[in-house]
This record gives sequence, C-alpha cells and structure tokens, in this order.
Amino acid sequence: MTIETACVLCGDPIELWTRGFQALYTLLDDWGTARIKDTRTGPRRANGWFMVDQIPLDSSSDADILALHPNPGAARYSIDLMKTRFHGVGRHDYSPPSATWGFPFHPDCWEMLSAACAVSGTRLDLKVIFDLWRSQPYKRDLLDWGHDYGGNWEDLEGGHTVSEPSTDGILDIYTDSPFHIPTLRQLFTSEIVCEPSRNRKVLTKVSLVCRHEGDPFIRLPVEILHMILIPTDSRDVLNLRLASPVYATLVLPDSFWRSRFWQGREFEHIFEVNTLQISNGGWRQLYERIKDLSALPSLTNRKIVWGLACRLRELIDRRLSVGPCYGTPQCTMFEPDGARHNFGWRVASPYLSPPTEYFYRRSRSLYERVTTLPDIIKRIFISTVGINSKIYISGLRFAGDNDTGYLLGFCSLDKEIEVTWETDQNLEALCGFHVAFDFKGIRGLRILSQTGEPSNWVGEWRDTSQQVLTLTSPAQTRTWNLKGGFDALKLVSIAIFYIEDWPRSPCPEFPDQSSRLREGSLWYGEIPPGELSLSGRHQLPLSLQENKIPYSLALFGGVDGSQLPCLSGFSVYYTTYWDTLPSDGTGIEAIEFSFSRPVNGKSSIILGRVPDTDEDVGVCHVTLRSDEGERISRLSTTYESMTDTLVDIKVHTNHGRSYPFPPRMMQNWGDEYTHEDLKPESGIIVGIFSSITSELGFATIGIASIPSLSDTTI
Ligand SMILES: [Zn+2]
Repeated sequence: MTIETACVLCGDPIELWTRGFQALYTLLDDWGTARIKDTRTGPRRANGWFMVDQIPLDSSSDADILALHPNPGAARYSIDLMKTRFHGVGRHDYSPPSATWGFPFHPDCWEMLSAACAVSGTRLDLKVIFDLWRSQPYKRDLLDWGHDYGGNWEDLEGGHTVSEPSTDGILDIYTDSPFHIPTLRQLFTSEIVCEPSRNRKVLTKVSLVCRHEGDPFIRLPVEILHMILIPTDSRDVLNLRLASPVYATLVLPDSFWRSRFWQGREFEHIFEVNTLQISNGGWRQLYERIKDLSALPSLTNRKIVWGLACRLRELIDRRLSVGPCYGTPQCTMFEPDGARHNFGWRVASPYLSPPTEYFYRRSRSLYERVTTLPDIIKRIFISTVGINSKIYISGLRFAGDNDTGYLLGFCSLDKEIEVTWETDQNLEALCGFHVAFDFKGIRGLRILSQTGEPSNWVGEWRDTSQQVLTLTSPAQTRTWNLKGGFDALKLVSIAIFYIEDWPRSPCPEFPDQSSRLREGSLWYGEIPPGELSLSGRHQLPLSLQENKIPYSLALFGGVDGSQLPCLSGFSVYYTTYWDTLPSDGTGIEAIEFSFSRPVNGKSSIILGRVPDTDEDVGVCHVTLRSDEGERISRLSTTYESMTDTLVDIKVHTNHGRSYPFPPRMMQNWGDEYTHEDLKPESGIIVGIFSSITSELGFATIGIASIPSLSDTTI
C-alpha cells in the first residue's frame, strides 16, 4: 500500500507508531489562524485504522465548521491535507468537503517538538509553525525543507510504502516510537545507583609529578582540567586522553558526564534528564547505560526526530525573535484586507510560486509589504537569516536622521549588517538593486547608489542567479516605494515602484537590446559589467521560460579586452548522438576557452559543464593564432523557428577561418529554421553567453563586445 500522507516533521508515513495523527489546520481562508487537533479519538475504519482524511468534530470548539457542514449531526469532518493550491478557496465559493485544510504529523513528533521547545524555553506558537509549513514546497509528497529527513530522504524515493495492517488492525512493523520508549522509561524509573568503578584511578599530585613530566597539562590544577573537559566534544576528549598522560589518568567528574546530555552533545535527545534528580556519581552510570541502548531502533529514531525537531525549533525561535513583518500590508489572496492601489512595479521574483498554482518547488510569498523610503537616507541596513547553512535576506531598514528609519520585512536591529560602498556615495536617491536568488528566496543584495555604483554584497551571491532591478529613468528615482514579498522567514521577491497609474501607464521599455539583455534577464553568477555591449536573442526558448534558466557568460577577453592576446584557442564539447539530424537543441555541452598563460590564476574558463568522458561525447579543438592578431569576430547561429531553440553555431575569425558546431553531417537547413549573424557593429568580441540546460545543451547564444581598441597589442 502506498501512503501519500507523511508527517511534515519526520517525513515518515503517518501510519507509523500510533494509529492516529494530529493536524495543524485552518478553515477556508482563515490564513491568520491555526488550530491543532488530535485525531486519535476520531473515526476509525472497521479494521481499527484511523481515517487519514477525517478529523473529529467538537461542537464546542468547531462551531464555525459545524455551521458550514452539510450534515448538522456529523461527528467528523473531511480535511484536505498538504493543500498548497488555493484557487477558489473562500467562504463565498465554499464547497464541501474541503473546508478545512492543513498539515498532518505524528502525535509523537509533536511531543518531541514540544520537548525540544521546552528545553530552550521556546514558545510553541501554532501560527508561526503553520506559516513555516506553508512556506515549504512539496517534493515527493513531503515538505521540502532542504534537508534529507535525517538520512531517510533516499529511502523515500518512489513514495512511501508500508505493509497492510493485520486483520486486528495492529501494525507489526514500525513500532519504534521515538517518544515512548519503554526501555528508556524503565531506566529512569529504576534507581541509578552510585557505584565506584573498578577502573577508577585516583589522581594525586604526587603521581602527576612523578609520571607525567613533559605533559603541559601537568601545570594546571584539577579544577581547570575539569573545566576544559566540559565544553569539549567527546571525541576530542578521547583524543585528549590518548595524547595527554595527565588526562589519561584523570577521573572524569560528574559534571563532565552531565554535560554529555547538553545541547549539541551525543545524548541531547535524552531530554528526560532535564527533569531527573541524579545522585552524585549517577551521571556516569546513566551515560553508560544509555550508550548500551543506543543501537535500539527506537533510540535511533529518537535521535533523528530530535534533530529535526531542533531544526524546526530554531526556525520558530528565529521568527519569534524578529517580531512582525514590517511594512504596509498589500492586498493579496493571503491578506485580502491589505492596501489596494494602482502602483506599477518593476519586480524581481523569478522563482515565485503563486498561491493559485501547486507549490512543487520555488518559494511562496505569504506577506507582501510596502515601505516608502525617507527623503534623506543616511544609512541602510540589511537583516539576514541562516536556513540549512545558507544565508537569505529577511529585511531592510533605511535610516534617516536620528531615527530607526523605515523597515521592510523581518528586521533584527541587533544583528543587521550595514550596507557599505568602496567610496563615499550620495544616498539621497537610490538607483536600484542587484539581487541574488536561489529557488528558495533572495540570497544576497547590493544596492545601487544614485550614480549606479553598486554597494558591497550583503548575503551570498556566489553560485546564484542574479538580476538587476533598476528604473530606466533617473527622474523616477527621487521618490521611492519598495515592495517585498516574504514567506515565514525571508524575502522571496523585491519590487520597485515606477508609476502610479498602472496599467494605464506601462513600465518603461529598455532603451536597447543590450540593456534588455543585461537588466531584463536572469544571469548565473555576476551580472555582465555595464561596459559590455550584449547581442543575442533576448527571448528564451519556450521550454526554458517556465524554468527561468539564467544566462551564463564566459568573459574570455576581459572587460577591457586585455586578455584577448592570451586566448590560445577553444574546445567545444558536444553529445555525438545529435550528429546526424537537426533537433531541438545543439547538443553543445560546453566551450572551454584556453589561455597561453594563466589569466587570473586560471589556464582556461568554461562556459557550460564539461561532460564526463564517455562514448556519447565529442570534442573539437580550435587553435587561434592570437599572437598574429586572430580573434573571434562573428557567430552564425541557426534557430528552430517553432521553438526558438538554437540548433547550430558557426564561429568565424578575422583571419577568414570558420568552424561549425556541432560538426553535423547534414547542414542543409529547411524553411523551419532561421539564421542570424552576431557581429559587433564596431567593436571586438570579448565574451560569449548562453542559456544552458542538461536536456538541450546550449539553447541560446549571444556575444559580449567592447568598442574597438586602439591598442595594437590587442
Ligand atoms: Zn513524524
């Protein structure tokens, strides 16, 4: 039996451990409210199994649900679990049976989360947890947190499978609840006796002096030796005892054994110890007995679920610590009472999943907020949040004179980072942003001053997709409204105001093709410098528009062309099964540009990904006579008209040589293909850019050029 409903905390099917589940849910469009219900007392099937799509009704607390129910005497109600598409969800167009929707989890996992929160004093805030859960996309019927559910992710490929229940309804597998562990409970209820260990050695000053000369720890009093042990990881303590004769003979104190149950240590998941009175000397016994039990499947589960609960607790802590989502709420599906206006926005949100679509990937905006920037900006601050070892932007603050300024999103006034420039800048008006994304949200920002000078980055920008967000007319930059889209923790979209009477006044067009490519496209890695003139197709093939494949640029000549004399040649890697027929894609996987001497420490730069060598990969090497002034001067391109996909390129040099790629046997294109030459009007090619996918190879191609140089060496 395939189980589609999994616990949103541990990722296991909810049928495990207990015959029932809990739901964190809400009613219709009650986005701001979250309720919790235990279904273990709810309706069952004839075989004793609970029903995964039903929750029991309680007339005292569920009066509003009862009011919507078609059967006034009903004892249960349908719940739509893992719902992420909300088109048509509203009281006005309510239709049974899915007036309630939410997320399922094991009662035991909730107990673990409660225990983890209790340890750190974190408030178990239902609304915050609900927000966190509805901020995560689906992946294989699970919420995609960016972690692998304690190593279980691979086991979950292809869906969850558990055995059918036996006829009496009792599962004979998966009985290893992480919360209710009888062996552990038995251990805590039995008296932990303090017995002197047979292996104990008594440390005496005399023995130290006699036996351990040369050990630097010999100089330290025992109290300090103990203090060093407490914050040290157990593996390091073991190594220390191997390396130091003093530590090898030191009796480890009770405080050391106690500290093995602290946060971050090997037994932090044995949270029960926080409520136990352990006798003097008992901590060592407890440690050793639990170590003996460590191989129990239930304790292994306990450790995994505890780790996942602690991760969620950290996110809850983070959200609770930053206060509200600052800014003026805007009218959206999730906040219908927000402000309505006709502002036109230039938006950077390539990876946003609207609420009307299934949330299978990318990010979702729960809160849209607007702030108007002050007339005088003195300083700018950006808040970040760490999620799964990655940094994301969570809020911005624009400070004027002597005040906290204007806040947008989740701001941590005590942890924010000030935006700085290499040189002094006039911040009276700002020009825009460089925005770094991954699929989950905005990873980094840098702000463009009035002169267009970019600030230093805040957040992460390497290995991200980047986009420029600017207004085309400097006159519009004086008064600014800024809009951010936020999920439970972070910024997922950013927009700048450009006009008040949208849509009557459309967004200003880019002045030329190069600006449109540079500022209207997504780039992998750095945005091409403004000195470059870009030429190529702005429109991506239809198949790539949905996935927002960014352009990648190989700037082999440098931004000033100074590297061109070093370009000794290039190699084109392609898949050979494209050889004979024109198809939807070039099959070109990568172009490697080689230098005669290292440039910026590299002997070559690569556009695309050089495939692993196997029989389906071909490669062509071209040597350029750069020392004789040979340069790449033109690209001839062929696109399949219907799909707008690149199928063929030919590289020309100023020495009259040309090279077709891939080197197909048939080059006789029909009417369904269009041809286009890419050649700088008056300049020299210093780079090539492309949108590249694993399916199509190079799907588009373009050139980056600079004006002709007078320097004869170039
Ligand atoms: Zn669970």
